[in-house]
Amino acid sequence: MTEARVAYVSMEIAVASDVATYSGGLGVLAGDVIRAAADAGFPMAGVTLLYHEGYFRQHLDATGHQHEEPQSWRPEDTMERLAATATVTISGRAVTVGAWRYLVQGVDGHRVPVYFLDTDRDENDDASRALTRRLYGGDARYRLEQEALLGLGTVAILAALGEHRIETYHLNEGHAALLALGLLERTRDLERVRQHCVFTTHTPVAAGHDRFGTDLAGDVLGHDRMNALRAAGLLYDEQLHMTHLALRASRYANAVAMRHGEVARTMFPEYRIDAITNGVHAGQWTSAAFRDLFDRHLPAWRRNNFALRQAIGIPLREIASAHEAAKRELFARIEQAGGPRLDPAVFTIGCARRSTAYKRNDLILRDRARLTALAERYGGLQLVFAGKAHPHDHDGKAQIARIVDASRELYGTVEIAFVEGYDMNWGGALTSGVDLWLNTPRPPLEASGTSGMKAALNGVPSLSVVDGWWVEGAIEGVTGWSIDARTDGDDAWAAFELYHQLENTIVPLYYERPDAYTDVMRGAIAYNGAHFNAQRMLAEYAIDAYTGAPPAAVTEIATLKAG
Ligand SMILES: *Cc1c(COP(=O)(O)O)cnc(C)c1O
Repeated sequence: MTEARVAYVSMEIAVASDVATYSGGLGVLAGDVIRAAADAGFPMAGVTLLYHEGYFRQHLDATGHQHEEPQSWRPEDTMERLAATATVTISGRAVTVGAWRYLVQGVDGHRVPVYFLDTDRDENDDASRALTRRLYGGDARYRLEQEALLGLGTVAILAALGEHRIETYHLNEGHAALLALGLLERTRDLERVRQHCVFTTHTPVAAGHDRFGTDLAGDVLGHDRMNALRAAGLLYDEQLHMTHLALRASRYANAVAMRHGEVARTMFPEYRIDAITNGVHAGQWTSAAFRDLFDRHLPAWRRNNFALRQAIGIPLREIASAHEAAKRELFARIEQAGGPRLDPAVFTIGCARRSTAYKRNDLILRDRARLTALAERYGGLQLVFAGKAHPHDHDGKAQIARIVDASRELYGTVEIAFVEGYDMNWGGALTSGVDLWLNTPRPPLEASGTSGMKAALNGVPSLSVVDGWWVEGAIEGVTGWSIDARTDGDDAWAAFELYHQLENTIVPLYYERPDAYTDVMRGAIAYNGAHFNAQRMLAEYAIDAYTGAPPAAVTEIATLKAG
């Protein structure tokens, strides 16, 4: 392990499917950044919180109503508990913070540590112990206390762990913004803090940007810290606004796709915000059959994802047979999980994402008669869905119930499976095992989206609204197909375009010209798999975000005493 120069700090980091410290896209992306760093031997350390009860385990009842239970898992199975501790004051309580270390190993054996902060310790009172219990659970106070723990705890624990060479703290989303306060307490100089922080913003949804009133913030952080924030100009409109805080305290900031960059600059016009488009870890997200295929044809691909561009030379029948294997594997998993028996000869569409209103996961079910007619005309249609709704998101839950309802109504004509408990394992199985990946968010609200990139690596073309990464990845009829972005928030129009593409282009191509369909599959790998991967993403971060840190000052920051 090389001493880390970059600390990647995130409210969630998905290191493995069963390590229940993630809810979805943000955590999976963070995990992919770490995996890419391990492959490259890049000197990085991840820092996040340990959630003893995870996010939640999803269970659907017969009416499609979502029930939530704690996820039980054992950190000691995969991580090492470290001896170092640090203390941070949160809500007037001295909270002892411990850490666990998970080692992510790259293709050449380099290892990148991820530190999971843990406050569930005997020294702490009940409220402090509870801080590392649930991801995105609880009220605003709980949320702010967790963000204080992540931000302030990271600075303190890295010093205690002897990680003295950190030049850059990468704040992944506003949740980590209080790290700047932790550095400010040590340096008392915002300019010096700025030299050491970079920030990635992840959502064009206004409500997705955490902000806290000064009363609550004063309670949790204490009045000295509030005064320090105020004096440094880090409060926004007398509020603790995490995105403004992070933007003001960072030397570099980026959005996660070109279109998202445009939106972010409109939302926060007073800052410079670049765009580094997300990518997914190729080795992690490629099915066994495709890994074998790439190993045979493009042996360098794991170390050098650019090699995937030459997938354009892989014979179509080999692409088709690798996909068939992945499809059978997915169907076997679905059946094993108690789902319906799906037919591998039938065209299958996949749609899995967090269930929330703007993602419109059920858009394809809007006109059930039209869908039935399509299935009957061409010899069948199958749909596979997955996705959790946040426990407080009633629209998201209703969306799941509508999908389950449709599965009953369309039984016998359009087979619909809803897979419970969307996690990394299901993410891999679904994005590799269906024939078409569907994405229908209401533009411009999808910052990037990454599941379609996983699909591309597995030769699964997308049918997507032109938003997020698809603005850059869409080549009509070559990497997939698009739903006109001008349909905008008009659900009926977007659904119309969706059916139009399926009826006139995609489904006939699949059933009547299978080689031409496989050619699009191959295009998805060569044009999109070769680009929308985590290796390219990390390279862009290294070039644009991580350069320019003043190296020597770091030791100083890490060792300077607070107060
Ligand atoms: C990849 C992935 C996501 C993110 O996919 P989006 O397209 O951004 O919604 C979310 N959850 C899981 C489990 C994943 O594997």
